Amino acid sequence: MSATLPMATTAGCDRPVLKERGQREVFCGLTGIIWLHRKLQDAFFLIVGSRTCAHLMQSAAGVMIFAEPRFGTAVIEEKDLAGMAVLDQELDGVVSRLLARRPELRTVFLVGSCPSEVIKLDLATAAERLEQRFAPDVRFLHYSGSGIETTFTEGEDACLKAMVPRLPDASDDSAEELIVVGTLADVIEEQFRRLFDEMGVGPVHFLPGRTSRHLPAVGPRTRLLLAHPWVNETARALEKRGATVLPAPFPLGAEGTTQWLRAAAEAWGVAPERFEQVVAPARERARVALERYRPGLEGKSIFLFPDSQIELSVARFLNREMGMDLVEVGTPHLDGMYHAAELALIPEDVRVSEGQDVDLQLDRCRAASPDLTVCGLGLANPLEAEGLRTKWAIELVFSPVQGYEQAGDLAELFHRPLDRMQRLEV
Ligand code: SF4
Repeated sequence: MSATLPMATTAGCDRPVLKERGQREVFCGLTGIIWLHRKLQDAFFLIVGSRTCAHLMQSAAGVMIFAEPRFGTAVIEEKDLAGMAVLDQELDGVVSRLLARRPELRTVFLVGSCPSEVIKLDLATAAERLEQRFAPDVRFLHYSGSGIETTFTEGEDACLKAMVPRLPDASDDSAEELIVVGTLADVIEEQFRRLFDEMGVGPVHFLPGRTSRHLPAVGPRTRLLLAHPWVNETARALEKRGATVLPAPFPLGAEGTTQWLRAAAEAWGVAPERFEQVVAPARERARVALERYRPGLEGKSIFLFPDSQIELSVARFLNREMGMDLVEVGTPHLDGMYHAAELALIPEDVRVSEGQDVDLQLDRCRAASPDLTVCGLGLANPLEAEGLRTKWAIELVFSPVQGYEQAGDLAELFHRPLDRMQRLEV
């Protein structure tokens, strides 16, 4: 049985949204390991889960079995579930073998799953015990990637939040520092770092950095820029340590990137002329790149199912910079505080929905018959068979699309399925 709740407001923002709580179609939080393990080059993600978890990661990450990946699964067997094995000893054995084989590792994340949560395996205590044994060479952190109540990007949020207690305290008289929160591809990190340097904003740190031991200090003089809409729990944990989030839309498209950078520039007192001078060349490159795709997208309608929490930012970009018509913008979770700047840029007459009741949403989508539907893999094939053009939502998270230089790539992701349809018709 499912229920559609009436339009309601979210704490922190006045705009009414359609709140739904029904069956959902999303990946679980383990999926975040796919981009986290590429970034944190001295860390290992040890999933404590089932063969299903192992298969999900193996196929989603597409890792060759003879490679030495930085993630793996300690599989909970039937005898473990039946209480016939001492799980702590088994886990310690797996970790010992892992570290003997991979002495370069500096941090091991014990990642909980649905099975480990169901049998109430205490990974917090396991992480403490293992850290005592392997300190100071290896740290152990833990978080849950379970799919019981979460969407897949919350896995990254949970991982970064687990790192927050390890960040050193910044002294009260330290200089103002900026932390960009959320995993960015190295090339994008470099682009942003260059722009911040040229403006005179900094020192700038990225969380996560390229190694798990690069942990910036945090305190009352720390300013935060959120790189993704899904790092809200990490942001809250950092705010509890005294840091302040700079409100801004997220850095997608030329407009989002400009406003995001401007939030930092204003906090650092950068003169508007200086800001313009620094961003203008890259913004112009983005404008030229977007011009190429705008004719194919302008006036086309789009329906976004909730998947990763990136939907509001993508919708804002497609509407304001590419001229697309928004039918419905779904998001798995709306945070009245950190998403407010983004929500303010979505036209008032567009339906924004939070959560999902997939059958009801499918009915709305079919009735609207949009030119393009952004949805998960499970919905895309059936909708294609019904004649709707789709875009896999997960590509928006797996592709490096933040910043000026990637704005064209972001537009191209939506242009491609529409262009293909047109060519097939011809
Ligand atoms: Fe499935 Fe849960 Fe494992 Fe994710 S954590 S693969 S949802 S069993």
